[in-house]
Amino acid sequence: MTDDLYSRDAYLATCDAVVVALTDEGVVLDRTVFYARGGGQPGDSGVISWGDRVVPVTDTFKARETGEITHQIAGEPPPVGTALTCELDWPRRYTHMRTHTALHALSGVIFRDHGARVTGGNMEPGGIARMDFELDAMSAELGREVEAELNGRLAADRPVHVLLLPRAEALADPDLIRTKINLVPASIDTIRVIDIEGIDRQADGGTHVRSTGEVGRVRVVKTESKGKANKRMRIQLERP
Ligand SMILES: [Zn+2]
Repeated sequence: MTDDLYSRDAYLATCDAVVVALTDEGVVLDRTVFYARGGGQPGDSGVISWGDRVVPVTDTFKARETGEITHQIAGEPPPVGTALTCELDWPRRYTHMRTHTALHALSGVIFRDHGARVTGGNMEPGGIARMDFELDAMSAELGREVEAELNGRLAADRPVHVLLLPRAEALADPDLIRTKINLVPASIDTIRVIDIEGIDRQADGGTHVRSTGEVGRVRVVKTESKGKANKRMRIQLERP
């Protein structure tokens, strides 16, 4: 399996790697900085280069059957065994890291202030995202309240920690239980947890910034009802 360098260091924008397989869907490497889409975070794009060749990576995902991190490219693939360089579209990825961190803070605010859990969420390029909550009511006023609270907490510049916890410890953590950690497959014995000090703590495979100050200000741009006990907020980062 590919060594996913981004799960240990989200700030790596480049790495050297070797092609280990070519599939119908794309290129598999021994290691990568390209985030494979999942958990609502888009897959990374950028370029791979070797010799005088530079080929765009248009998306990164886990192959449905094998789970291998697969780089979808636009061009002739490098042969198996090629040593190459990976380079992210860093501004795009960094925005995803800020958006993703903003969503954690938003879910923390809604849970602590309103007792509601997250039912779904998704991120788009450009600092745009939505999150759904088990709330009975939603209003523009609640959106404004949450926006003020969210920005206050982000501005406190809280550190964001990446923890690797033994499964038993993670399953006993009340903060993690609310995020349905029991759904993590039993075969996984180490659970990656994103802990934003004093704001939110959840099991997660995505990439995040180091501290909430990097997110900047966030606007709640839309509030809507998606049904009983399912209410949606759309957010937009002020700085794209
Ligand atoms: Zn996350």
